[in-house]
Amino acid sequence: MFTAREYVKAKSLDEAWELNQIRSNRVVGGMLWLKMSRLNINKLIDLSDLGLDGIEENEDEFIIGCMTPLRELELHPGLERYSCGAVREALRSIVGVQFRNLATVGGSIYGRYGFSDVLTVFAAMDSFVELHKGGIIPLSEFIGMKPDRDILVRLIIKKTALDLRYYSVRNSRTDFAVLNCAAAKTGDKLKLVFGARPGRAMIFEKSLSEISSAASLAGEAAEAIETRSNLRAGADYRTHLVRVFAKRAYNDLGGGEKC
Ligand SMILES: Cc1cc2nc3c(=O)[nH]c(=O)nc-3n(C[C@H](O)[C@H](O)[C@H](O)COP(=O)(O)OP(=O)(O)OC[C@H]3O[C@@H](n4cnc5c(N)ncnc54)[C@H](O)[C@@H]3O)c2cc1C
Repeated sequence: MFTAREYVKAKSLDEAWELNQIRSNRVVGGMLWLKMSRLNINKLIDLSDLGLDGIEENEDEFIIGCMTPLRELELHPGLERYSCGAVREALRSIVGVQFRNLATVGGSIYGRYGFSDVLTVFAAMDSFVELHKGGIIPLSEFIGMKPDRDILVRLIIKKTALDLRYYSVRNSRTDFAVLNCAAAKTGDKLKLVFGARPGRAMIFEKSLSEISSAASLAGEAAEAIETRSNLRAGADYRTHLVRVFAKRAYNDLGGGEKC
């Protein structure tokens, strides 16, 4: 468990950002990851008074505040419809309901955890993050950036027409995934995002018209996606799962109707 000397409820994003420039201070979301650390924190910066806990849906996009709990994403009817159930599927194995009532979108995305189901599912969509100083950038770009001291304010999902699926394999029900995969079909394009490799999510894209069979797609994805070994599984097994998920995605989305 960490220790903190002071707790500050920020009155504005500017104040939160200023405080966060000091190395010994930390922004907090649900505090669930942070509490696993033994950090010596000077000031905890709480964003919960800034109205950033909710999902706004309009014709073109979903705008999700950084303090929104994962559970709210899981239960949102609009996201459920748009993602063909993939968001719920991606989140349902993260520990338990009480946990997902606390874990936030900001903490989950900012951390860019290699094991993340949250990053994987949103990286398959037309997603952007809004950073307080860095502006709005594609999530795929953010995944590759080194963590800095900016504040993740919102996650934005454009409602590009797509068909989406989510797959994961876990050694036990609520453990970190051995491998996860979100597959999106947009027009003729098939996008496969693989996470828990165990590194950060990687994207493999291909036109459906260029894929001769599920087996050829599986082979190409396995070549392109780098996997490694850790306590949960070996690299070979993960690469085997890349093939399995790629085939499954092709069969589910290759010629199928929109869900
Ligand atoms: C035991 C355990 C099991 C887990 N299993 C899974 C799993 O299977 N799949 C999965 O996807 N995830 C899993 N997670 C991760 C979890 O879903 C959350 O992503 C994680 O707890 C972080 O969310 P939080 O709100 O608790 O963030 P915090 O712990 O509060 O913060 C995490 C980090 O993000 C920073 N931060 C928080 N909010 C912001 C912001 N708005 N801007 C900038 N920086 C910010 C904090 O300073 C800190 O460095 C697991 C976590 C734990 C502890």
